[in-house]
Amino acid sequence: MSEPISTEAVIIGAGPAGLFQVFELGLLGIKAHVIDSLAAPGGQCTELYPDKPIYDIPALPVCGAQELVERLLQQIRPFGAQLHLGEEAVELRAQDGGRFRVVTSAGTVFDAGAVVIAAGVGSFQPRHLAVPDAATFEGSQIHYKVRSAAEFHGKRLVVFGGGDSALDWAIELAPKAQSLALVHRRTEFRAAPASVARMRELEANGRLRFIEGVAQALRVQDGRLCGVEVRGTDGAPHALDADQLLVCFGLAPKLGPIAEWGLEIDKRAIRVDTEKFQSNIPGVFAIGDINTYPGKKKLILSAFHEAALVSFAVQHHLYPAKKQFLQYTTTSPAMQKRLGVGAE
Ligand SMILES: Cc1cc2nc3c(=O)[nH]c(=O)nc-3n(C[C@H](O)[C@H](O)[C@H](O)COP(=O)(O)OP(=O)(O)OC[C@H]3O[C@@H](n4cnc5c(N)ncnc54)[C@H](O)[C@@H]3O)c2cc1C
Repeated sequence: MSEPISTEAVIIGAGPAGLFQVFELGLLGIKAHVIDSLAAPGGQCTELYPDKPIYDIPALPVCGAQELVERLLQQIRPFGAQLHLGEEAVELRAQDGGRFRVVTSAGTVFDAGAVVIAAGVGSFQPRHLAVPDAATFEGSQIHYKVRSAAEFHGKRLVVFGGGDSALDWAIELAPKAQSLALVHRRTEFRAAPASVARMRELEANGRLRFIEGVAQALRVQDGRLCGVEVRGTDGAPHALDADQLLVCFGLAPKLGPIAEWGLEIDKRAIRVDTEKFQSNIPGVFAIGDINTYPGKKKLILSAFHEAALVSFAVQHHLYPAKKQFLQYTTTSPAMQKRLGVGAE
């Protein structure tokens, strides 16, 4: 466990809500660290619909979802918030003196004055292979992400899935594995058409075997996984030899550790007030899709409004004696200085 990083605020989640929270806190001169379990910022926009156009962002008649994320990243750049990506916030505990201890899956520890939870629909976790005993081999012979492609070289490999990542890995590893089978429950793929064409080419050349079906059971010998039983959609059984299974079924959001932090939860969302978007724990706020209150609408627009109000609430929580007043970015020299755009 590392030395705690002392900070005014920790934001959990780097979706549109969490990114805009950096901006709103930054305008008030409050520094934040951001944690996200995914390897890239952007939340649902990046993970679920990067290429889709969004039409209801004020003053942007149309904006691609990934473009929105890029614009938010550009907008928060002046504030130099550190993004801790690929780390899940696993612990949140109130400490003496009203501060909070936040710990991530990578062992990063924060000592924070306030916490803003912007965790959307939860942290995205890989969908698992639904066969008995799969958990026993997770990380050794069953993989949900590729740490190093080299560990599959020269191996008998079975890849599961029909999206971009399943096909990309199948294409890359087919020439390097001892054998490679791709298993997908349908003949329609969610992957790019060019990848499907390349996969079919490798299949025609005998570099790769494609099976339309689903995994039924693991084959285990002397405690080691040695293959997998697959039932074809036509009902035919296939016994595939395998040293390694690579499962690319995509990611599903899970509320995960947030449910254990003593927060009032209502239908998988954190209950907050509408003045400060504060949870039942003073100093812990929640914005975006993760919160709930009467009339809540899960829209990016709502998250932006919530972030603005939370920044004032965080400021008051951190510095109760400080007089609060509204400033405009247009005319406030202090804000312009923080943005790096104004005169001294
Ligand atoms: C297909 C589709 C189309 C949409 N179109 C629109 C639209 O046109 N207009 C609109 O306003 N909205 C739209 N939405 C909804 C919009 O995307 C969400 O309202 C928005 O993404 C919510 O932002 P958020 O930051 O609250 O959450 P998210 O975008 O879900 O981001 C939350 C982040 O928190 C991270 N996280 C969660 N738990 C943890 C943890 N414990 N530790 C670390 N990180 C964690 C997650 O990994 C994720 O990156 C659409 C949604 C979908 C699926």
